Amino acid sequence: MDKYNILIVDDEPANLYLLEELLSENIVTSARCGDEMFSALEKESPDIILLDIMMPGIDGLALAGQLKGDERFSEIPVIFISAKNSGEDVAEGLNIGADDYIRKPFNNAELLARISKVMNSRKSKAELYRKATRDNLTGVFNRDYFFEALSLKIPKADRENQIFSIGIIDIDHFKKVNDTYGHQAGDRVLKNLTRFINKSLREYDVLARYGGEEFIFLLDGILKSQAAFIIDRIRKQAAETVFDPENHLHVTFSCGLTDTSEIAGQTDKSDFLVKTADRRLYLAKSGGRNRVILEG
Ligand code: GH3
Ligand code: MG
Ligand code: MG
Repeated sequence: MDKYNILIVDDEPANLYLLEELLSENIVTSARCGDEMFSALEKESPDIILLDIMMPGIDGLALAGQLKGDERFSEIPVIFISAKNSGEDVAEGLNIGADDYIRKPFNNAELLARISKVMNSRKSKAELYRKATRDNLTGVFNRDYFFEALSLKIPKADRENQIFSIGIIDIDHFKKVNDTYGHQAGDRVLKNLTRFINKSLREYDVLARYGGEEFIFLLDGILKSQAAFIIDRIRKQAAETVFDPENHLHVTFSCGLTDTSEIAGQTDKSDFLVKTADRRLYLAKSGGRNRVILEG
């Protein structure tokens, strides 16, 4: 079995001991009740929780319900390990959203196999999700993900008066890079420039590949003047960075920016933001490239 960070919740010290021994190749944290489980969750990010059901105070079923209802923890897989062993008990546990249910007394080999199975299926799910939401070449988000995120963000911004900026970046004279140095060199530039931009943004900003050599981004919590400051700094640094060491290639980019202060009264706000950023990107191109435009 791969090594995991496992949180075991059981009120019975003998059960904890048994599981700690069996799982000793892993990083194991033990909790004896719900309170201890939640304080452990503040310190550890377990890959999986093994949860007893019959415990004094809040029982395991209720705890699982709390976990599933809390977005910080809802994605952590849960396996019940319980002496409640009727078919109805198992069904109830699974219906609450647990990934599996193991009856006590358990068989060691079966327990390990079931943990592995849950973890492997989570891994495949995560890989599928990644494939569906990321751009293959650059690893940043894809266009579908971006527009989904934007469509969720707009009503939230409306309701809670939140602000954000949207920008579109297009690499300058990129066709020349391909024509002169070949498509592979072009791909390396795309990858390295994207990494460079992504690294310069904050964790909660969203950068996505919009098309060939165009990228779209959402900078959360700031308006376009501040966004322009950030992107302009990245633009200047990028112009001085080598993005294909093999050919010692430099590239520049142009960018059009807009923000939520401009969308009041618009019916299709997402479309308006993208069109406005795109128009300004065009102005940046016609104005000489290698610049950020936030008006017009
Ligand atoms: P401008 O400054 O006006 O944006 O000029 P440009 O040459 O960058 O723009 P144009 O739209 O004429 O060309 C874009 C080029 O980007 C053409 C295409 O071959 C290249 N491109 C698009 N996607 C990829 C890719 O995935 N890999 C590589 N290597 N090149 C790509
Ligand atoms: Mg271009
Ligand atoms: Mg283009």
